[in-house]
Amino acid sequence: MKKNRMTNQRLKILEYLRSVKTHPTAEMVYKEVAKELPNITLATVYRNLNHLAENCEIQRFEVNCTSRFDADMSFHQHCICKKCGHIQDLFEKKITEDTIKKARTTNFEPQSVNVIIYGICKGCKGK
Ligand SMILES: [Zn+2]
Ligand SMILES: [Zn+2]
Repeated sequence: MKKNRMTNQRLKILEYLRSVKTHPTAEMVYKEVAKELPNITLATVYRNLNHLAENCEIQRFEVNCTSRFDADMSFHQHCICKKCGHIQDLFEKKITEDTIKKARTTNFEPQSVNVIIYGICKGCKGK
């Protein structure tokens, strides 16, 4: 039996994550996936998300002590609203490439770059 076989639950979680740009928390993923898989538990969703992150199928990063998940594995940066936690993607390949190049000059082999820009989103700005 192949150990890294994708279970149906894991596949559904991954499919959902790939369909959104919201960088959801585990609770948000659970609410959506439970519509199709009513027997799934929050603990199972957590376990699968962590498994996917550890196998580099998805990204995991912390915002205000909460894990957020992203199935977009292309190099990009995240702009995070300090007020509401809204996350939007920024695709500035150069930032990532320059960071990797710089890290290599210090005799270090970089594997991933996680750039987070904190600020206030459009929706919160007017308030
Ligand atoms: Zn906001
Ligand atoms: Zn993202």
